[in-house]
Amino acid sequence: MTKNPIIQIRPRNGKPALPLSEISFQDRLAESGLRLRAAKVEILQVNVGKLCNQACKHCHVDASPTRTEIISRETIDHCLDALRKHKIPTLDITGGAPELVPDFRYLVSEGRNAGARAMVRHNLTVMFEEGNEDLPEFFAANDVEVISSLPYFQARQTDAQRGNGVFEKSIEALRRLNSVGYGTDGSGLVLDLVYNPVGAYLPPEQKSIEADFKRELAARHNVVFNNLYTITNMPIARYLDWLRSSKNEDAYMQKLINAFNPATVEGLMCRNTLSVEWRGNLFDCDFNQMLEIGVAKNVGQKIEQFEPSQFEGRQIMTNSHCFGCTAGAGSSCGGTVS
Ligand code: SF4
Ligand code: SF4
Repeated sequence: MTKNPIIQIRPRNGKPALPLSEISFQDRLAESGLRLRAAKVEILQVNVGKLCNQACKHCHVDASPTRTEIISRETIDHCLDALRKHKIPTLDITGGAPELVPDFRYLVSEGRNAGARAMVRHNLTVMFEEGNEDLPEFFAANDVEVISSLPYFQARQTDAQRGNGVFEKSIEALRRLNSVGYGTDGSGLVLDLVYNPVGAYLPPEQKSIEADFKRELAARHNVVFNNLYTITNMPIARYLDWLRSSKNEDAYMQKLINAFNPATVEGLMCRNTLSVEWRGNLFDCDFNQMLEIGVAKNVGQKIEQFEPSQFEGRQIMTNSHCFGCTAGAGSSCGGTVS
């Protein structure tokens, strides 16, 4: 799509405004005296594929029930080798719906045996797919941290983003997770929720919306959870399609650019996370993975080539979508960053 040349960001420090299409993330970092370099890899985030039982409107993976890309046992074994050999503290499993991958449980249990903390980005409704009824018990037995998207504490907004009937199923799944101890005091079983805006705006303040979710989910549905993370919608994939079709793309990008916050850069998830794709290719984050922007060319490109000393300090590959991570309080897989 051709950018609207009239749109400009507001003047900064007395400098003239630039057309939106000429705003570079790297320039904005440099203006703030910052360079984006990786720290030590502490999280191996494995995207096990694009197959999902849902097809949400905002999905940055373009996942759906018709996708066939899923990770092989061989690639899983390469990930497990990296966890064991380099003692990477955290295994973060995402998708698609990871639970639909045949070797999902193998990855979780062997990841735990390798000594890693395991996190699963679980969409809740997959619990009602055949063979997944015992997921709460499986998660609990492996001490998995469960992170689940719930766009809102009301059905209308949730179903608008994730599909008809998703809210009701999600609440039932949360109750099942609560029934084995997830999110309840003293159990040690962590259940976190993720909120992302339904429209073309930035998320509200994380603590305040967390309080709203806690109050309303407890009162209306007797559901409890630990933390709520707010995540900014990234202008890529299905969400970008929606921005374009609703003629919101330039206004949304302008919002992200104007909200650039240098204080978020140190905590960006690409600094301590390495993202692995279903075929074993390496990326600085899941968003770069979807855009097929691989890691810097001077480091290994596949998980079996991962060497920590090579990756620490590497240049992070960026583009305009990165403004989604640095807007306002910042955004990462673990919520705000500043
Ligand atoms: S957002 Fe999550 S649950 Fe929805 S289609 Fe994408 S991967 Fe599936
Ligand atoms: S999109 Fe990825 S590479 Fe860009 S700032 Fe965010 S986490 Fe880092």
